[in-house]
Amino acid sequence: METSTDLPAAPAGGAAAAAPPPGSACLVCGSTSRAQRFVQRGYPVYRCLGCGLQFVWPTPTAQELSDHYARNYAVSLERYAAARERNIARIAELERWRPERGRLLEVGAAYGHSLALARDMGWDVAGVELSGAAAAYAREHFGLEVFGSDLGEAPLEPGSFDAAILWHVLEHSRDPKAQILRLASLLRPGGVLGIRVPNAESFGSRVAGVWWPWMCPPTHLWFFSRSTLPRLLRDCGFEVVEVRTQRGDGNNLYQYTLMWAGHALNELRLRLRTRGQGGAVPAPAPLPAGERAEAALAGTAARPEAPAAADAAAPRAADRGAPTSSGLLQRWLDLLQRAQPLTNALARHTRFALEPIERRGWGDELLVYARRRP
Ligand SMILES: [Zn+2]
Repeated sequence: METSTDLPAAPAGGAAAAAPPPGSACLVCGSTSRAQRFVQRGYPVYRCLGCGLQFVWPTPTAQELSDHYARNYAVSLERYAAARERNIARIAELERWRPERGRLLEVGAAYGHSLALARDMGWDVAGVELSGAAAAYAREHFGLEVFGSDLGEAPLEPGSFDAAILWHVLEHSRDPKAQILRLASLLRPGGVLGIRVPNAESFGSRVAGVWWPWMCPPTHLWFFSRSTLPRLLRDCGFEVVEVRTQRGDGNNLYQYTLMWAGHALNELRLRLRTRGQGGAVPAPAPLPAGERAEAALAGTAARPEAPAAADAAAPRAADRGAPTSSGLLQRWLDLLQRAQPLTNALARHTRFALEPIERRGWGDELLVYARRRP
């Protein structure tokens, strides 16, 4: 799905095509109590008070997402091709739960690189990919069976798969529960499901908050945790067999700590200034809105903003933090960017100490393996 330029379609059935009405139940626990955490890029992000699931609310319309992906979202073919070693490791990891292999389905198969590797490793493979262009590449270049459609519409036989993988797909979907239920029907009893999503309760998410690189609506709509995703899976007919977190592609803990320290210092500066001026100064946002800040935090190249989303949500746009004119702020962002190679080096040298911490809930990437119950 990372390549997708199409919309994540609503599940078949029609009724779910429209955004659920305000006050409807939590995807995971059914609660209708929620608290707003913040507004990012014009999209309010809530936390369910029943189970802790975080999510964009209301769910953007299919059209809004379609416009967003068409304008702003593309991952290069080269980047997928370069991920060979990582993909082999991920498939080997899946095989711990299914050493006898069998028939494998990948949802969000992109250009087919991981499926082609899985085939080389002895799996009989099929895929689904929303981007018609990427799916066509997978078929033509690798000769793979990849359907350029939504999972709900792909002509796949129920009960015909021994394993399924969703690597950073679920957080993009308008209806993750519909996807999980569909997978429950496609897998044989005992079949293995492997999911990777951002970990909403990671160290980085806690300290960076709205500026956590994965807090990027409307690309990401759902923010799962070690408790919420397993609960959803259990409710959809799965037995959860492994839950783990790891660093993933994100920042290291040192970089996040720097981000937190800068944020705290800035808050302090604003408080002091406000006090000095009798509380008359409106507090500016702690960071400028937009991807410039995100890029600085993530240490990556800037991505274009979502003009469609902003236009469609004009009232929301008023909630965005106004960019501040602070030169201090800009210097801090530059400093963060310059610090990245240093903190990366530090993280490499202290890997032995960081890895156990990142595996125990602090890492940015959440991995869950589950078996289809008989
Ligand atoms: Zn809930």
